[in-house]
Amino acid sequence: MKFETVIGLEVHVELATASKMFCGCSTSFGAAANSQVCPICLGMPGVLPVVNQEAVQLALKTAVAFHCQIAAVCRFARKSYFYPDLPKNYQISQYEEPLATGGWLEISGQRIRIRRIHLEEDAGKLIHPEQDQTYSLIDFNRTGIPLMEIVTEPDLRSPEAAVEFLQRLRQNLRYLRVSDCSMEEGSLRCDANISVRREGQPGLGVKVEVKNLNSFKSVRKALLFEASRQTRLLIEGKPFRQETRLWNENLGITESMRGKEQAHDYRYFPEPDLVPLRFEAGVTASLKTEVVELPQARRERLIKDYGLSSYEAEVLTAEKEVADYFEEAVRYYPQPRMVANWIMGDLAGLLREKKCAINQQPVTAEMLGELARMVHDGKITMTAAKDVLRETFNTGKHPALVVQERNLVQIDDASAVKTVVDQVIAENPKAWADFLAGTDKAIGFLIGQVMRKTRGRANPRKVEELIRGYRHGK
Ligand SMILES: [Zn+2]
Repeated sequence: MKFETVIGLEVHVELATASKMFCGCSTSFGAAANSQVCPICLGMPGVLPVVNQEAVQLALKTAVAFHCQIAAVCRFARKSYFYPDLPKNYQISQYEEPLATGGWLEISGQRIRIRRIHLEEDAGKLIHPEQDQTYSLIDFNRTGIPLMEIVTEPDLRSPEAAVEFLQRLRQNLRYLRVSDCSMEEGSLRCDANISVRREGQPGLGVKVEVKNLNSFKSVRKALLFEASRQTRLLIEGKPFRQETRLWNENLGITESMRGKEQAHDYRYFPEPDLVPLRFEAGVTASLKTEVVELPQARRERLIKDYGLSSYEAEVLTAEKEVADYFEEAVRYYPQPRMVANWIMGDLAGLLREKKCAINQQPVTAEMLGELARMVHDGKITMTAAKDVLRETFNTGKHPALVVQERNLVQIDDASAVKTVVDQVIAENPKAWADFLAGTDKAIGFLIGQVMRKTRGRANPRKVEELIRGYRHGK
């Protein structure tokens, strides 16, 4: 008997606003505990919330980018529940009248439908000291930070598809500059609804909500675990209930947390302290002009306009800044494949080494273009160019200047190269003998010695030709 996994996601995204959802407190991450709070976000009696306009605009922009219908009127609602990190004992969210409904995002050629996008506020953070488990601490800095919740339809059919959706979503939100989506800082969090049914069975199986998924890896692992747990129960014919389960990262299992609450448990009602939001006609049209070219469109354009492979286009569009850098470098040096190789190879290596982003280092697109041109024109060798890139990356010196200062211009003079080759052969009789005896590996060593002596200024292909020519000559 075959089984099918059905997954829907609820993604919480912290919006990239400077201040909180309903007060003026800062949203910056990492400040001293409880240093970014005020009577409003602490839920003191008698205070009045005021909606953050920027947060609304960012959510609208997301809705437009994901092809959603923007509500003519949307309203905030109180979601009542008690938890120590929620000082008001209710969260301001949206319920029956969300900001937007009915959109989609494409993954691997399949449209994953988005049921709704709404705005709400984040809760505080509980800290449980490991050394003493008799007390807990609360940091209210996160309380009231604008959250956008994106809810999908149950269109995903595997844990891998769920992860792919999240990765694409994150990429798109970063392009839109709606959120930094840093999972380490909790700016992107996700709950997953997962059920298993017999293939062909109408309707959905018993749904389980999995919470506490803080990385792509934990999403994948938790959903794989849950899919096999539910499948086993179905095979054994054991009934199980709809519930909320927590992912336990250390044990690698999901654990029952509570029976699934129903909406009426939250006693939703319209927030009396906030007026409904009414969007003027034309708001969608004006937002469309603000929505940048998104990753998928950009991938397609890079393939079409620059002749890149789909793999190259995928890597170069992973971050908007990298794609911008690539296109700028190509303007300086119109050999797209070569520029792409430099960015994906040596430059990416340096960025990984120093753990920095492409727009946080000194090699400008113009410098990279110039470097590629010098190699192409035969002014410097590839070996030298790699060193030049590293020096430019470390010092910010223009590649042309580095080449000049370090005297790296390629030795074009054949007799000068020959002199060095002769020297190397004389100094390495064993390698030379091996090579003559037919050990082809030895030539690599000899070429390496020539490159070292010329500090990378000889053309390795010419050196090889020369050495092989000697053998034929002898
Ligand atoms: Zn505040």
